[in-house]
Amino acid sequence: MTESMIIQLIAVNCRYSHSCLALFYVRQQLERHLPKAQTRFRQFTINDPYYPTLLRISTPETTAFFFSVYIWNHAYLHRLLTDLHQLRPQTPIVLGGPQALVLREALNFQPTVVDGEIEGVKASFYTDLREGRLQIDYQCTPGSSFRSPYKRDDFCRQLKNRNIYYESSRGCPFSCSYCLSSVGRGVVNRDLQETRKELTAILRHQPQIIRFVDRTFNADGGRALAIWRFLSASHAESPATSFHFEIAPGLFNEEMFEFLEGLPAGLFQFEIGIQSTNNETLKAVNRVMDLKKASTNIRRLTAMANIHLHIDLILGLPHDTRQTFGRSLNDVFALGPHYIQMGLLKVLPGTTIHRRRRQFGLMAAALPPYEILATKWLEDKELGRLFWLGECLEAFHNNRFFTTFFNYLRQIDEDILFFFSELSDFCQKRGFFQLANTQALLTETLVEFTARYPGAALIREVLLYDWLHAGGRRPPPCLQPVDMKGARDYLWHHLPDEVEGLFTQRQRHAFFKKAIFQRFSVETLKLAGHNIKSSQPEAYAAFLPVTTGLLKHQETRVILKE
Ligand code: SF4
Repeated sequence: MTESMIIQLIAVNCRYSHSCLALFYVRQQLERHLPKAQTRFRQFTINDPYYPTLLRISTPETTAFFFSVYIWNHAYLHRLLTDLHQLRPQTPIVLGGPQALVLREALNFQPTVVDGEIEGVKASFYTDLREGRLQIDYQCTPGSSFRSPYKRDDFCRQLKNRNIYYESSRGCPFSCSYCLSSVGRGVVNRDLQETRKELTAILRHQPQIIRFVDRTFNADGGRALAIWRFLSASHAESPATSFHFEIAPGLFNEEMFEFLEGLPAGLFQFEIGIQSTNNETLKAVNRVMDLKKASTNIRRLTAMANIHLHIDLILGLPHDTRQTFGRSLNDVFALGPHYIQMGLLKVLPGTTIHRRRRQFGLMAAALPPYEILATKWLEDKELGRLFWLGECLEAFHNNRFFTTFFNYLRQIDEDILFFFSELSDFCQKRGFFQLANTQALLTETLVEFTARYPGAALIREVLLYDWLHAGGRRPPPCLQPVDMKGARDYLWHHLPDEVEGLFTQRQRHAFFKKAIFQRFSVETLKLAGHNIKSSQPEAYAAFLPVTTGLLKHQETRVILKE
């Protein structure tokens, strides 16, 4: 029967740019065990129109449908599988992934579930599939060896313009009680030589980004450093590729810092799970972290300014009150990361926290993704307020627009929970969350919101700097009036024919034509990171049409006023 077998591997991703690593592993194993079967890879997103997706999938010649189930595609798959089964009741449906068992319980029929890593399923699974007598359940032996499932063709087809996911190790050495990765046991590391070989093959296709899905990439420091060194050395062959890692900030050593310091800006991105800085909370969720060491290391990474830093906090963990959550937010904000994600706790069936949910008074949504609704320490209304605060943080903080403004808030030691609570209320009253978050709207909102601050004039100037630094040309009405033409004319007449580091006599005309000039207080320029040794209260900034640094800001030069 294998000659005529057509197996559809169907990925339903969150976004178009995502891809589904698990299904590539399934294809690899199917090709190994059933070499004559045809596998067809299909990729959709949860935002795709439903009926056309169903039509594309439900082709009658299909021998079996395979899906990988996650909390983000659970609802879409629930609907899709129900109708697919109505249309093709005789065709087996096979589910894998962390939510496969949960989805099956919710369905009105019994698809086959492969529970665990596909490499660990018994050979009888493939025989049963070939013979058309699949059972309901197949358990997999954990800890099986695995290798990269990608083929050369994938990069110009299924993976074209998408994130490439890669795992150099599987499993996590930690046991956070809310995480499904803590349910499996042990860590399996790939052979380093093999890893290098596989990465070389991937890099040949010059992908935009490779996301390492290793749950704690630097759990083994020596190994992490060896892979980092290899990737950095490969940079010349694939200069447009960046690499994303989930790392534990407490597990860095001097050798790692020395290496990381020399990296070009933007080559690496680190995602760092802090979750909470409340010790009682961390203990309750079985999370091991030396907070002091983690903070010191994150500060060092921030100061290096060449790695994009994303920090995660979880809202709704046991023992976290508004006050302790606010402390976590303030602690994390003070470290100066580029991105702070405030995610709601998801009480996932199968995790320890789910088993202890009554003890912690956790009320969670009944359906995936099982977001927290209230806890013993945060009633629903309070949790809701913190959620909107998180949306506000996402809109204003997690972009490249207001770096100087947030430096200012750090410098005046602003209580960031209070700041964002108030800003969130202000935004709610103005219907902000229903509008498109353009840089102009965000700037206008901040100017209005901070108008009652004692430092309002300085803030307005800081926001003007940020506007120009982020590449905006004509400032919005809320930042007017500005006299950029006056600044240019003044400098044109007062600067010598040649200024070292700015222009030669021949370049002078072109420099004045391309750059934008504006006068700022020295205080603003210092907040923006310019090291000015001048007793003058003001200086000029020239914003050049060249992007620079990690956040692709305009290259900016300060010209001291005589
Ligand atoms: S949250 Fe991260 S560190 Fe904790 S068990 Fe899960 S993957 Fe490991």
